[in-house]
Amino acid sequence: MSDLPDLASIHAADTVVGTPALLARPTTHDRWVDRRDPVAIVGGGLAGIAAATVLESCGLAVILIESRQDLGGRASSFQDAQSGEWLDNCQHVLLGCCSNLIDLYRRLGAIEHIKWYRRVHYIDDRGRHYSLWSVPGLPAPLHLGPAMALFSLLSIGERLSVAHAMRAMMRLGKSGRAGLANISFGEWLARHHQPTSVIKKFYDPIVISALNEDTQRAAALYAIEVFQEAMLRNRHGYMMGLPDGPLQTLYTHRPCRDVRLGQRVTEIVCRDKTVSTIRLASGEHIAVSAVVLATNHHAVEKLISPEWLRTDSRFASLGKLESVPILGAHMWFDRPVMKLPHAALIEGPLQWLFRKDELGTAVHGVISAARPWATTPHEHCAALFERQLQMIFRQPQAKLVRYRIVIEKRATFAPSPGIDRFRPPQAPVPGGIENLFLAGDYTRTGWPATMEGAVRSGYLAAGALLQAMPHTAKLPSPLANDLPFERAARWLSGSD
Ligand SMILES: Cc1cc2nc3c(=O)[nH]c(=O)nc-3n(C[C@H](O)[C@H](O)[C@H](O)COP(=O)(O)OP(=O)(O)OC[C@H]3O[C@@H](n4cnc5c(N)ncnc54)[C@H](O)[C@@H]3O)c2cc1C
Repeated sequence: MSDLPDLASIHAADTVVGTPALLARPTTHDRWVDRRDPVAIVGGGLAGIAAATVLESCGLAVILIESRQDLGGRASSFQDAQSGEWLDNCQHVLLGCCSNLIDLYRRLGAIEHIKWYRRVHYIDDRGRHYSLWSVPGLPAPLHLGPAMALFSLLSIGERLSVAHAMRAMMRLGKSGRAGLANISFGEWLARHHQPTSVIKKFYDPIVISALNEDTQRAAALYAIEVFQEAMLRNRHGYMMGLPDGPLQTLYTHRPCRDVRLGQRVTEIVCRDKTVSTIRLASGEHIAVSAVVLATNHHAVEKLISPEWLRTDSRFASLGKLESVPILGAHMWFDRPVMKLPHAALIEGPLQWLFRKDELGTAVHGVISAARPWATTPHEHCAALFERQLQMIFRQPQAKLVRYRIVIEKRATFAPSPGIDRFRPPQAPVPGGIENLFLAGDYTRTGWPATMEGAVRSGYLAAGALLQAMPHTAKLPSPLANDLPFERAARWLSGSD
């Protein structure tokens, strides 16, 4: 394990975009952009937080409205009624390649709460421990080479298979990856002769958790993006970041001055192709110059009138996005069970484990793509998890004294082949609502539903809104730079 508090400094994009006090400039057109009313951001998840941060830093008057009492949306914590402790709805993991999320944490002053791990641990069904680590100073993709060569979880033949597939992914580049939008990763793995045993031991722990989808069913485009961005582009891309406390501690710095918590928007009122007002459950009406709608896609359908759901083509295919559940299990044992800070588990049911206290008595387990678990009774889950941990930690006497299981049924949308044609763009489309911008992990970001995808969507929505204002035409995109494509990686891939 190693702490890398300076990871963020490798990202070139800095925090402030645009010039302040844009709205104070004189304007000549009588359009929505010239109104002095504030921009409303509906939804205080990562997408809404990201949009609010950028727009307020550009001098716009911003109101962020969130129906819950806390910010963070799906990446947030709740207070356990039994113990009073703050628990995350589920452990959230980021990687070094999540440039925009890291940029947002910097803007929010939260980056020092992220602990970085250079060594990624694995435990097999018999409790044997393996790890992947990088050699400091070696550029991507060579940085993981020595660890892969010694990765005895895989036989030598299996390691060669992985090397063959990684080489093929490198050669694809970004454009080759884009050409795989309509095929499944299972199909791509079969074409590249990857044995079932390698899928289970190597691909599953990475792909299922990163995409919240079965390795075989996920779009090849997104699965390959994970390997290209996290492992094959830059030596820092694969590093695992974990918050050092509950997710809530990341949002103590407000993204804008006017944050209204515990207030639910009930309607986005639209006339002549523009939103003029939003209505709150309290009965309040707020006049707005524009709206960034940053809820999940299920809520969108409740806030927009049926007429505009039909007319604005961005809403046409939202019903095609399938939700996939994630299970998170908070568990407290009567004795220390876990020494490692985290581990991927090769044999289920839990797929990943995270140690939650110094002693290792409190642990958190995760099952992604948890469709079969959505209706399983919690006592049954707990009994299975207790047995799994007793076995892998070789502590048959260890007793689970308390647990709390959280199943998010609508955790993320399924990143299926061809999914991107159903994901709407953030910016208004011809014939649609002219001052309504969409943000949220479900919008078209080029990323799967992750914290990074959500932040990208918020930045893209804010960028599109700023771009629509005549006096801001020259602003750079608020998106942070991706990690640099290291020379060795570029040379070995021979591609873009
Ligand atoms: C269990 C689980 C585990 C996950 N693990 C990871 C992980 O390890 N790594 C990772 O990168 N990603 C992970 N994700 C995905 C990540 O959490 C999401 O992609 C991201 O948080 C989505 O952010 P968002 O802003 O797009 O949407 P949301 O977080 O859903 O935010 C939307 C907000 O809008 C609010 N809202 C809705 N309707 C209204 C209304 N009418 N008025 C006002 N407010 C409203 C909601 O309360 C919510 O706060 C996980 C998700 C889940 C559920």
